[in-house]
Amino acid sequence: MERKFAWAGYSENDINKVNEFAERYKAFLGKGKTERECVKEAVTLAKKNGFKDLGALIEKGKALKAGQKLYYTYMDKCVMLFVIGKSPMEKGFNIIGAHIDSPRLDVKQNPLYETDGLAYLDTHYYGGIKNYQWVALPLALHGVVVKKDGKVIELSIGESDSDPVFCISDILPHLGQDQMKKNAADAIEGEQLDVLIGGNPAQGVEKEAVKALALKYLKEKYDFEEEDFLSAELEVVPAGKPRDLGLDRSMILGYGHDDRVCAYAQLEAMFALDETPEKTVACILTDKEEIGSVGATGMRAKYFENAIAEIMHLMGEDGELKLRRALSNGNMLSCDVSAGFDPAFAGAFEKKNAAFLGKGVCFNKFTGSRGKGGSNDANAEFMAKCRAIMDGAGISFQTAELGKVNQGGGGTIAYICALYGMNVIDSGVAVLSMHAPWEIISKADLYESFRAYREFVLKA
Ligand code: MN
Ligand code: MN
Repeated sequence: MERKFAWAGYSENDINKVNEFAERYKAFLGKGKTERECVKEAVTLAKKNGFKDLGALIEKGKALKAGQKLYYTYMDKCVMLFVIGKSPMEKGFNIIGAHIDSPRLDVKQNPLYETDGLAYLDTHYYGGIKNYQWVALPLALHGVVVKKDGKVIELSIGESDSDPVFCISDILPHLGQDQMKKNAADAIEGEQLDVLIGGNPAQGVEKEAVKALALKYLKEKYDFEEEDFLSAELEVVPAGKPRDLGLDRSMILGYGHDDRVCAYAQLEAMFALDETPEKTVACILTDKEEIGSVGATGMRAKYFENAIAEIMHLMGEDGELKLRRALSNGNMLSCDVSAGFDPAFAGAFEKKNAAFLGKGVCFNKFTGSRGKGGSNDANAEFMAKCRAIMDGAGISFQTAELGKVNQGGGGTIAYICALYGMNVIDSGVAVLSMHAPWEIISKADLYESFRAYREFVLKA
């Protein structure tokens, strides 16, 4: 049951397509460092590809017809795309869903302080990170500050060559003997993840002069004051663009592959639907997966179901029962990254059931931990259907579990959508160093995922 490497089956023309796709993905990933930035970029691309704002059509009560392409944003942190199909929604529709939030350091609401001539922003980490990976590397600050009058100030500092960057310092090895005796989990503690943002005291200021100068820059350049941190969402992320990895350039090193790699593959799958599909196709880019899909913009919220209800209303398919039928007749790929087999940590995996970089899109029948706990365990019948679709189109795919039994585990949005009674299975791209500031994927897996998602929404 050995699966082949996707690269082995590529013609020169295929390799060109893989590389061109990777360039477009890198551009997206470089611009989308937060969920809000990903939504913005997705909408820009959707408009370019002929998608219209569903929100405006809902307001006007305009009827929808087959072939229409729509996008719908929610709180600027989620976005859904739809291509209306020929058959009634009640009969079911096909869905691909990924998340666009990634692990990072969130700036606290009262973050700014000065000590010993240096000014810092205090942070609270978001998602599962290894603290020690976030020190001694260039960091950027992205996000929004919302003023009391509702004005939204967008911030991005640390990405252009002329920008300053930020950093969390670490102890020099010469003086690090106490730290080096600790467990890796304790070597850098959560409260130590404070970001250095200034070291120059404002002239003529007696108290907290370094902080005062930092605030002066924020006021002059971005027009906000210290109190405005109270209503800000600022995210500290690795500074810099994704890069080709390896002499053969077969991989990409980037921040936030989890799960923007699947998000982007989904977007292009939607843009590549040139003919009106038989069933309506939905693409979800959701928020808050990394902290349990909670909150108004997480998958556990009702925004997707509400959007489907709005669409069905505009298609003349009103009523609670029809909505329930549409959702329970749905077929979904929950598109999320998988742990790639890492030879340097081979002991964490069971090799027969591990995802390998370059072997194509990865299907996870189940995720969860300790006896599949918390997992959506997809039906064999649905898995068989997916196999048939993949093989029918010559798409490279592999199957995997997240590490060996009892090594750990993880979840995705699959189990939440399964609550409607629809068929759902996890599928995505294998990643090395997942949740590290810089993660690694294979360009072949990115491309095969795009092909898989397009084929699935047409054929499922
Ligand atoms: Mn993920
Ligand atoms: Mn994750």
